[in-house]
Amino acid sequence: VPNTRFMVDGFRFQSSRCKHYWLSHYHSDHTTGLTTSFSSGTIYCSAVTANLLVKDMHINPSCIQPLPLNIPLLVDGINVTLIDANHCPGAVLFLFKTPPPPGSEFSEQVILHTGDMRWHPRMGRHPALKNQRIDMLFLDTTYASPKHVFPCQEDAIADIVRVMKQEAKARPGTLFIMGSYRIGKERAYLGAAKALGWKVHVNADKLRVLRLLGLPENDMALLTRDAAAARIHVSFMGKLLTPDALTDRIRAGPWTHVVAFRPTGWSFQKSGLSCRREGDVAIYGVPYSEHSSFAELRDCVKTLRPRRIVPTVNASTPA
Ligand SMILES: [Zn+2]
Repeated sequence: VPNTRFMVDGFRFQSSRCKHYWLSHYHSDHTTGLTTSFSSGTIYCSAVTANLLVKDMHINPSCIQPLPLNIPLLVDGINVTLIDANHCPGAVLFLFKTPPPPGSEFSEQVILHTGDMRWHPRMGRHPALKNQRIDMLFLDTTYASPKHVFPCQEDAIADIVRVMKQEAKARPGTLFIMGSYRIGKERAYLGAAKALGWKVHVNADKLRVLRLLGLPENDMALLTRDAAAARIHVSFMGKLLTPDALTDRIRAGPWTHVVAFRPTGWSFQKSGLSCRREGDVAIYGVPYSEHSSFAELRDCVKTLRPRRIVPTVNASTPA
């Protein structure tokens, strides 16, 4: 962060000169370089992210300073406000008010770092951002191309529910699998489960992580460790979501078919959800994104009117 001794999501660049490390959220591409032996300074983050750092990553708690959202705070003489980023649980934007660079016409330099974000119009109405001059916007530009058109999360969840209903009616022995990362996509599978009155199976490790997120109790009540009791199973994206691996799931349980969902903004097709079918397995790409669409990025820039934009994302790493 210019004119400060702060680093955002920069554990790869630890140095003895930097004592203040800001972590926007607990996705591995943002914690790169952070290890259990971290002792280079203080990590500032949301309470949920702090919980994950201590209990999932086993970082020394004395190195972590959880901060509340929506309240202007002073850290090392710099005014900072954390704002919900509408990304994964615990993800925040950082609004820094730093000393001005030499020759500036203003008494302070205002820097907004988005970490990873799904822009929502309500953010523009946030008291800390409304009518606030932004000098520099470090922006999550994962989908900064006009071809990235996808619906809001509510519509994407409605699509998932519609497909689940159709598939369950056509083939009652179908198991549904939702792709996920270590954290993220919770609203996709919990939203679908809620709409259908179904349970969600997670393994012990995933359940342990989900318990750290401070999710509402009625959401946690949808989860079960009993695989046979749940129509929806959560699975890590990647090798576990291939036709071969999914066919093995049929053999291992009472199911006759498997329908898997890959929720990501990359999967959008104009014709609707993409679907690949092989034998008794179907894999749907669903446009459930935790990053802004191109239209949302445009709305963000139009609303905040930053004087300068710094893109933070290499478009090949959409976590
Ligand atoms: Zn992320």
